[in-house]
Amino acid sequence: MNFDSNCIFCKIADGIIPSYKIYEDDDVLAFLDVNPVTYGHTLVISKEHFETALSTPKDILSKVMNVAQRIGQIQIKELGAKGVNILTNCYEAAGQTVRHFHVHVIPRYEATDGFKLEFNTKEIKYPLVEVMEKLAEK
Ligand code: AMP
Ligand code: ZN
Repeated sequence: MNFDSNCIFCKIADGIIPSYKIYEDDDVLAFLDVNPVTYGHTLVISKEHFETALSTPKDILSKVMNVAQRIGQIQIKELGAKGVNILTNCYEAAGQTVRHFHVHVIPRYEATDGFKLEFNTKEIKYPLVEVMEKLAEK
């Protein structure tokens, strides 16, 4: 079992640091984000330390996503959310601040709920054929 004694989410998973826990099983823990971007913002983590989703074993990844899905459903039912963003940041360039795999489950209420996740169309036109060829499974 990977455990990093300097990792805040490992300490939360271990119970050394308290959290507003809403779900727990052998592999997965879900708790409220202490700096919520909307009402009900929740984090779902693997109890074992993996740096990002990219290095998390598939079975654990899938367990975490199953819990994230369930929490999103509950946020709609119990909090009256009108939508949910489920996302995970991998590495600092993508906005990751805690280097322990976690999934944000962010209930959305309306466009004015204060949280902005923008997919702006860029002026730059990327060469899509070149990108497709690089990304296609070899
Ligand atoms: P990310 O930027 O994707 O790495 O997200 C890390 C999230 O962890 C941020 O939204 C923080 O507000 C949250 N966070 C950091 N420390 C704690 C903590 N002790 N309890 C709950 N959430 C935390
Ligand atoms: Zn950790």
